[in-house]
Amino acid sequence: NRPIVAVVGRPNVGKSTIFNKFAGRRISIVEDTPGVTRDRIFTEVEWLNKYFTLIDTGGIEPKSDDIIVSQMRNQAMLAMDMAHVILMVVDGKQGITAADREIAETLRRTNKPVILVVNKIDSMSQYDNVYDFYELGLGEPFAISGANSMGLGDLLDEIVANF
Ligand code: GDP
Ligand code: MG
Repeated sequence: NRPIVAVVGRPNVGKSTIFNKFAGRRISIVEDTPGVTRDRIFTEVEWLNKYFTLIDTGGIEPKSDDIIVSQMRNQAMLAMDMAHVILMVVDGKQGITAADREIAETLRRTNKPVILVVNKIDSMSQYDNVYDFYELGLGEPFAISGANSMGLGDLLDEIVANF
């Protein structure tokens, strides 16, 4: 009966990287190629004596590119159904894409807390990109670097504050 936290976002933004950092082990497969089938998508996370179940929705990504967008919408819907808190991950290096806008539009329809996570902010010099993401209409963007483990503590604080 632990709260469920779902990680959503288009392929290659770093969902599995974040999932693995939170899991403390490399159990979700990180791929440079979008849409590769992943194995493990659930993990239990503990932070400051609070426990939750984290789901990497990218673990159910399709193999073919043409259905990725509709599949992402399905993942967002699934997350909205079962999650207590949703993490929408975007790529701070790449900026906002059409797919990001689609997912954000779906997520704006939920009453559940959505935390907008701007990943790949590997150094302070990239921080300016973060403000662009206010445009997605999901509130204050949270800058992190999953790869360098920057900002993850603050993000976990924000997640568990919603339980
Ligand atoms: P997913 O498809 O959303 O699950 O994304 P992955 O976690 O598989 O990561 C996609 C690519 O982005 C991989 O090459 C990762 O190494 C890279 N990546 C993930 N997080 C970061 C980050 O914080 N900074 C940078 N520069 N690259 C990252
Ligand atoms: Mg993944």
